Amino acid sequence: MATILVTGGAGYIGSHACKALKKAGHLPVTYDNVSTGWRDAVRFGPLEEGDLTDRSRLDQVLAEWKPDAVLHFAALSNVGEATRKPGLYWRNNVGGSLTLLEAMTAAGIAKIVFSSTCAVYGECDRPAETTTFSPLNAYGGSKAAVERMLADFRAAHGLRSVSFRYFNVAGADAEAEIGEAHDPETHLIPLAIQAATGRRDALSVFGTDYDTPDGTCIRDYVHVEDLVDAHLRGLDYLGADGAETTFNLGTGRGFSVREVICEVGEVLGTAVPHVEAPRRIGDATALVSGSDLALKELGWRAERSTLPQMISSAIAWHQKGGGYS
Ligand code: UDP
Repeated sequence: MATILVTGGAGYIGSHACKALKKAGHLPVTYDNVSTGWRDAVRFGPLEEGDLTDRSRLDQVLAEWKPDAVLHFAALSNVGEATRKPGLYWRNNVGGSLTLLEAMTAAGIAKIVFSSTCAVYGECDRPAETTTFSPLNAYGGSKAAVERMLADFRAAHGLRSVSFRYFNVAGADAEAEIGEAHDPETHLIPLAIQAATGRRDALSVFGTDYDTPDGTCIRDYVHVEDLVDAHLRGLDYLGADGAETTFNLGTGRGFSVREVICEVGEVLGTAVPHVEAPRRIGDATALVSGSDLALKELGWRAERSTLPQMISSAIAWHQKGGGYS
């Protein structure tokens, strides 16, 4: 059994990672300031409340738990907010990660799996891990900077890291125990479910004049359980001293906003009320993975990431309440 510090363990992906770690026999210790996450989502191990920028609190928690490795999810991740408030993203995501890496180095903790994003690529057709960064917003920029920071810490301090560049994460765990809940919600699938079930007004479709077959943006959706499976493989890969450091996590298949809306309607058996709206600043036209490096190196493939599987599991969670108290 390993002790794994999970920053952001109270959030959507972090809480699913904690559940998977526990299932695999590990102890997930959540480190979270609960600013965008939920105490009630921390069900699989202890919660240590703290901010990533708080070095003394981090030192204290690392000394207490002596984790074997860190899964680093904690970050602000709203593209619209990042565009309006870049300073917030640079301070929290980059400054917070720097504080974490310095605390880990001082404590002699040498393994980290980092949540990066396909937003590092910007407007780019089927990027591979070698594709040059060109982020369109401070969210992608902040994640690209942390990847660079990890490379420098690797060279200077021997810190071993794996960065996963997520495409769009969707769905909920098979038991519908935990799921995707943001306040305010900004993500397409939960918003579409809420609109279709009368929990909110019509969904706005951000941009219908993109250069895509139906005019709406295209994204590559991955089931959250597939995504966290890659993290467990990443931990093993670090342990085995794997050579690669960066992996795209996507299926290589994209769906437009209209296709997602249609599928939500299909699974629920009722149309999703929606209206056409202007483009959202900071959005790329299409983000679809162009790599199978994760398959080659980690043996990872997306097993549950068809659109009906992801949407059905998200709906199951919403039908059980779809939120935390
Ligand atoms: N989107 C939309 N209406 C919404 C929320 C999202 O049309 O109310 C679109 C958004 O412009 C993007 C896609 O849905 O093209 C996925 O957005 P989401 O915020 O879920 O994830 P992101 O791609 O920003 O990580």
